[in-house]
Amino acid sequence: MRLVVLYLYPAGMNIYGDRGNVIALARRAEWRGIAVEVREAGVGEPADFAAADIAFIGGGQDREQVAVSRDLQTAKGRDLVRAVEEGLVVLSICGGYQLLGHYFRTGEGTTLPGIGVFDAYTVAGNRRFIGDVLAETEVMGDRRTLAGFENHSGRTYLGPGCRALGRVLVGCGNNGEDGGEGAVSRNAFGCYLHGSLLPKNPAFADHLLRLALARRTGQPVTLELLADDEERAAHEAVVARIRQRGRLRSGAI
Ligand code: GLN
Repeated sequence: MRLVVLYLYPAGMNIYGDRGNVIALARRAEWRGIAVEVREAGVGEPADFAAADIAFIGGGQDREQVAVSRDLQTAKGRDLVRAVEEGLVVLSICGGYQLLGHYFRTGEGTTLPGIGVFDAYTVAGNRRFIGDVLAETEVMGDRRTLAGFENHSGRTYLGPGCRALGRVLVGCGNNGEDGGEGAVSRNAFGCYLHGSLLPKNPAFADHLLRLALARRTGQPVTLELLADDEERAAHEAVVARIRQRGRLRSGAI
């Protein structure tokens, strides 16, 4: 068995260690004997979504998002939309997440069009949302917390065509108003969590792998359990830091 992970815009969209998500997906598959090929497609480069099992796009500065937004308004963006409709597994973080919505309006008032994978739009606010985030979500019926770090000016508002990935326990999340964090549409996921996300949230990483493997094999997949001592410790370190700062209500997790 072999999986293809397609890393979109690795040069510009890779802040706060977002590349670690690609590494975590590859390692967690390889530790189960599943070979992984990581392909990259930058601005102006073709992307073969039909051959991909998981596509990833990380976060970036407004400046980098300009070129990516433009690049996505080509056949490449249309191909990505079609691939998502066909079940491609996608993980997008922060700036990448914003451009998979309808648009991101920057603090300077420039509107960067997205591709509408998520029924969502993003508008920059006056204050950046910076800090640790804990969000609760459901992974295969189990309640899990996702731990990460946010740093964004954008406020993302979801429409009825997608749902939030989780609810923030600590942090600002999508917009600091409605308690939502991230978005889900089919097998496409977006969220604001850098840090990177998947190494310290292994259950979510495995969820993405399971979705991709099930799509490739046409049947449900059970993944061999991994020890995950370091992964859990990394997750707990974020929770401990948040507790220490008194930001977590007792009993919240
Ligand atoms: N430039 C976007 C914003 O500030 C995204 C930032 C990011 O990806 N960290 O909202």
